Amino acid sequence: MKLSNKISAIAGSQTVAFTTLIQQLQQEGRQIIDLAVGEPQLDTPAAVIEATQKALSAQKTRYSPVNGLLELRTRLAEQFDGWGMKNILITNGAKQALYMIFQAICNFADEVIVPVPYWVSFVEQINLAGGRPVPVATQDHQLNVAAIERALTPRTKAILINTPNNPSGAVYPMEDLQKVARLAADNDLYIIADEAYNAFVYDGAVYMSMFDIDVARDRLIVTRSFSKSYSMTGFRIGYAAAPAEVIAALSKIQSHLTGNVCTFAQYGALAALALGADWLSARQTDLQQKRDIAYERVSRMFDCIQPQGAFYLFPEVSSVLKNNETSEALARRLLKETGVAVVAGEVFGMARHLRISFAVSEENLINGIKRIAEAL
Ligand code: GLU
Repeated sequence: MKLSNKISAIAGSQTVAFTTLIQQLQQEGRQIIDLAVGEPQLDTPAAVIEATQKALSAQKTRYSPVNGLLELRTRLAEQFDGWGMKNILITNGAKQALYMIFQAICNFADEVIVPVPYWVSFVEQINLAGGRPVPVATQDHQLNVAAIERALTPRTKAILINTPNNPSGAVYPMEDLQKVARLAADNDLYIIADEAYNAFVYDGAVYMSMFDIDVARDRLIVTRSFSKSYSMTGFRIGYAAAPAEVIAALSKIQSHLTGNVCTFAQYGALAALALGADWLSARQTDLQQKRDIAYERVSRMFDCIQPQGAFYLFPEVSSVLKNNETSEALARRLLKETGVAVVAGEVFGMARHLRISFAVSEENLINGIKRIAEAL
């Protein structure tokens, strides 16, 4: 017996595999400082836990509509002026939304432009949909719109924009987003905007969404998530916001795939939305302080562009690679010798880099970077 060629050709998610490995090492009693996993190590807000428990006690344990609780979709739609409930689909994390988007838009060998570095799952999700990921280089982690234009072919179906970017922390300026939107409009392409880190931009910046650009709207598919903003990674609640016909297509897939997202978890998400802007801004301030602590120390060791958003540093580490060492080997060496976990750049399409999360306790952040500095 043989598995399908399609499945044999893809790799499992390395960010997820790393989380499993770290938990295993911790269970074996090793003191691991985890700067690898992409999740805030702050607690889930008490109000979210309480609302979820209350929903469970009230037997909110049955199916909900495939597209999600009406109340939750209505609240989420308020972020998108002119869009309503029919423009929102609640999904099992933004990850499932993205998976379904590629399934919904790609015919065989259709191309999706993906700026590098990119989140690990984009390329394999596109492959699984029969499409072709087309990586396009960036400049100092910023979009190179001319290179994106050069990469367009008659098979191009969509341009994927992830800002703030995982893993680089780059935030793309409005003028570049506008140029991409214009390019997509002129070539009749979808724009997929992965905005999982929209709550985290620093230095007083205001988050700029592709949705703010008029010319983008009728071709725009946005994905966002509760995971990072509210420390709700395990709840698995994300959503897609898009023109109604795209949401209807995604909903068709979801109706055959998972049906609704866990009903009582959706009540937790409603409580998260009630926490309000001040709560989110306190979280942003906390992460900015950690960004500053991490950047100050890491940039003494490596070439590193200061992240303007998300919660990762993505330094260039060539100076410490021994002989022909890859950054994957370096990450393994660091884990073995120092007990500090970071993710190798190869996973994100960019060798000779490491991804270091700063969404951890200040103590772990300082000790983790110190251990790396001592080992190198
Ligand atoms: N998105 C996070 C990361 O990049 C979580 C793991 C995953 O789903 O890839 O680490």
